Amino acid sequence: GNRTFTMIKPDAVKDGHTGSILKMIEAAGFRIVALKLTHLTSERAGQFYEVHKERPFYKDLCAYMSSGAIVAAILEKENAVADFRKLIGATNPAQAEEGTIRKLFAKSLEANAVHGSDSDENAEIEGNFYFARTDKY
Ligand code: ATP
Repeated sequence: GNRTFTMIKPDAVKDGHTGSILKMIEAAGFRIVALKLTHLTSERAGQFYEVHKERPFYKDLCAYMSSGAIVAAILEKENAVADFRKLIGATNPAQAEEGTIRKLFAKSLEANAVHGSDSDENAEIEGNFYFARTDKY
Protein backbone atom coordinates (compact mmCIF):
# COMPACT_ATOMS: atom_id res chain seq x y z
CA GLY A 1 0.00 0.00 0.00
CA ASN A 2 1.22 3.50 -0.69
CA ARG A 3 -1.04 5.60 1.53
CA THR A 4 -1.53 6.14 5.22
CA PHE A 5 -3.59 8.47 7.38
CA THR A 6 -2.40 10.63 10.27
CA MET A 7 -3.77 13.05 12.85
CA ILE A 8 -1.72 15.55 14.77
CA LYS A 9 -3.41 15.34 18.17
CA PRO A 10 -4.69 18.30 20.27
CA ASP A 11 -1.67 18.66 22.57
CA ALA A 12 0.76 18.93 19.67
CA VAL A 13 -1.43 21.40 17.76
CA LYS A 14 -2.00 23.51 20.90
CA ASP A 15 1.74 23.61 21.62
CA GLY A 16 2.52 24.86 18.12
CA HIS A 17 4.22 21.73 16.77
CA THR A 18 2.12 21.36 13.61
CA GLY A 19 4.76 22.90 11.33
CA SER A 20 7.65 20.91 12.83
CA ILE A 21 5.72 17.63 12.58
CA LEU A 22 4.64 18.23 8.96
CA LYS A 23 8.25 19.13 8.14
CA MET A 24 9.49 15.82 9.61
CA ILE A 25 6.81 13.93 7.68
CA GLU A 26 7.85 15.52 4.37
CA ALA A 27 11.57 15.16 5.14
CA ALA A 28 10.95 11.41 5.63
CA GLY A 29 9.69 11.18 2.05
CA PHE A 30 5.93 11.33 2.52
CA ARG A 31 3.87 13.46 0.16
CA ILE A 32 0.88 15.21 1.75
CA VAL A 33 -2.10 14.46 -0.52
CA ALA A 34 -4.91 15.82 1.73
CA LEU A 35 -4.67 18.12 4.76
CA LYS A 36 -7.23 19.65 7.12
CA LEU A 37 -7.27 21.49 10.45
CA THR A 38 -10.49 20.63 12.25
CA HIS A 39 -12.02 20.00 15.66
CA LEU A 40 -13.80 16.75 16.58
CA THR A 41 -16.91 16.62 18.73
CA SER A 42 -16.77 13.87 21.37
CA GLU A 43 -19.33 11.91 19.27
CA ARG A 44 -17.10 12.09 16.19
CA ALA A 45 -14.05 11.11 18.26
CA GLY A 46 -16.11 8.18 19.57
CA GLN A 47 -16.86 7.07 16.01
CA PHE A 48 -13.22 7.36 14.97
CA TYR A 49 -12.05 5.21 17.91
CA GLU A 50 -15.07 2.84 17.81
CA VAL A 51 -12.69 -0.18 17.69
CA HIS A 52 -11.47 0.78 21.18
CA LYS A 53 -14.93 1.22 22.71
CA GLU A 54 -14.48 -1.68 25.17
CA ARG A 55 -11.06 -0.47 26.33
CA PRO A 56 -10.82 1.25 29.73
CA PHE A 57 -9.23 4.38 28.25
CA TYR A 58 -11.95 4.92 25.58
CA LYS A 59 -13.93 7.69 27.33
CA ASP A 60 -10.80 9.63 28.30
CA LEU A 61 -9.41 9.23 24.80
CA CYS A 62 -12.61 10.63 23.22
CA ALA A 63 -12.61 13.58 25.65
CA TYR A 64 -8.95 14.24 24.93
CA MET A 65 -9.31 13.97 21.15
CA SER A 66 -12.18 16.48 21.19
CA SER A 67 -10.40 18.90 23.56
CA GLY A 68 -8.82 21.03 20.84
CA ALA A 69 -8.03 21.37 17.17
CA ILE A 70 -6.44 18.46 15.32
CA VAL A 71 -4.78 18.21 11.91
CA ALA A 72 -5.81 15.31 9.67
CA ALA A 73 -3.79 14.25 6.64
CA ILE A 74 -3.50 11.56 3.99
CA LEU A 75 0.11 10.71 3.18
CA GLU A 76 1.60 8.94 0.19
CA LYS A 77 4.82 6.95 0.07
CA GLU A 78 5.86 3.43 -0.86
CA ASN A 79 5.23 1.17 2.18
CA ALA A 80 3.42 4.12 3.82
CA VAL A 81 1.73 2.40 6.80
CA ALA A 82 4.81 0.61 8.14
CA ASP A 83 7.25 3.42 7.36
CA PHE A 84 5.02 5.99 9.03
CA ARG A 85 4.68 3.90 12.19
CA LYS A 86 8.48 3.73 12.27
CA LEU A 87 8.68 7.53 11.94
CA ILE A 88 6.23 8.15 14.81
CA GLY A 89 7.67 5.58 17.23
CA ALA A 90 6.06 3.49 19.97
CA THR A 91 2.55 4.35 21.25
CA ASN A 92 3.99 4.98 24.70
CA PRO A 93 6.53 7.83 24.33
CA ALA A 94 8.60 6.34 27.15
CA GLN A 95 9.35 3.50 24.72
CA ALA A 96 9.68 5.61 21.57
CA GLU A 97 13.08 5.61 19.86
CA GLU A 98 15.28 8.69 19.61
CA GLY A 99 14.43 10.86 16.61
CA THR A 100 10.82 9.67 16.32
CA ILE A 101 7.94 12.17 16.32
CA ARG A 102 6.55 10.79 19.57
CA LYS A 103 9.95 10.86 21.29
CA LEU A 104 10.24 14.53 20.35
CA PHE A 105 6.67 15.75 20.90
CA ALA A 106 4.54 13.29 22.93
CA LYS A 107 3.65 14.20 26.50
CA SER A 108 2.08 10.95 27.70
CA LEU A 109 0.62 7.63 26.54
CA GLU A 110 -2.67 9.38 25.78
CA ALA A 111 -1.34 12.75 24.58
CA ASN A 112 1.14 11.08 22.24
CA ALA A 113 1.26 13.80 19.55
CA VAL A 114 0.23 11.80 16.47
CA HIS A 115 -1.90 8.96 15.15
CA GLY A 116 -0.84 6.61 12.40
CA SER A 117 -3.01 3.98 10.71
CA ASP A 118 -2.16 0.37 11.54
CA SER A 119 -3.13 -1.21 8.19
CA ASP A 120 -3.86 -0.31 4.56
CA GLU A 121 -7.53 -1.07 5.17
CA ASN A 122 -7.73 1.27 8.17
CA ALA A 123 -5.78 3.97 6.33
CA GLU A 124 -8.52 3.97 3.68
CA ILE A 125 -11.35 3.98 6.25
CA GLU A 126 -9.74 6.72 8.36
CA GLY A 127 -8.97 8.91 5.35
CA ASN A 128 -12.60 8.62 4.24
CA PHE A 129 -13.71 9.64 7.75
CA TYR A 130 -12.19 13.10 7.19
CA PHE A 131 -12.02 13.62 3.45
CA ALA A 132 -14.81 13.25 0.92
CA ARG A 133 -13.85 12.07 -2.57
CA THR A 134 -15.27 15.43 -3.70
CA ASP A 135 -12.16 16.97 -2.08
CA LYS A 136 -10.41 15.36 -5.08
CA TYR A 137 -7.21 14.14 -3.43
P1 ATP B 1 -2.75 5.37 17.14
O1 ATP B 1 -3.88 4.44 16.72
O2 ATP B 1 -3.21 6.68 17.72
O3 ATP B 1 -1.62 5.53 16.17
P2 ATP B 1 -1.58 3.20 18.43
O4 ATP B 1 -2.07 2.34 17.35
O5 ATP B 1 -0.12 3.36 18.63
O6 ATP B 1 -2.10 4.67 18.36
P3 ATP B 1 -3.70 2.14 20.07
O7 ATP B 1 -3.45 1.00 20.98
O8 ATP B 1 -4.47 1.93 18.81
O9 ATP B 1 -2.29 2.81 19.80
O10 ATP B 1 -4.42 3.28 20.94
C1 ATP B 1 -4.99 4.39 20.33
C2 ATP B 1 -4.66 5.62 21.13
O11 ATP B 1 -5.28 5.50 22.42
C3 ATP B 1 -3.18 5.83 21.45
O12 ATP B 1 -2.49 6.50 20.46
C4 ATP B 1 -3.23 6.64 22.73
O13 ATP B 1 -3.46 8.02 22.45
C5 ATP B 1 -4.46 6.09 23.43
N1 ATP B 1 -4.11 5.03 24.38
C6 ATP B 1 -3.69 3.78 24.12
N2 ATP B 1 -3.50 3.07 25.23
C7 ATP B 1 -3.81 3.90 26.26
C8 ATP B 1 -3.83 3.78 27.68
N3 ATP B 1 -3.49 2.63 28.27
N4 ATP B 1 -4.20 4.85 28.40
C9 ATP B 1 -4.57 6.00 27.80
N5 ATP B 1 -4.58 6.18 26.48
C10 ATP B 1 -4.21 5.17 25.72
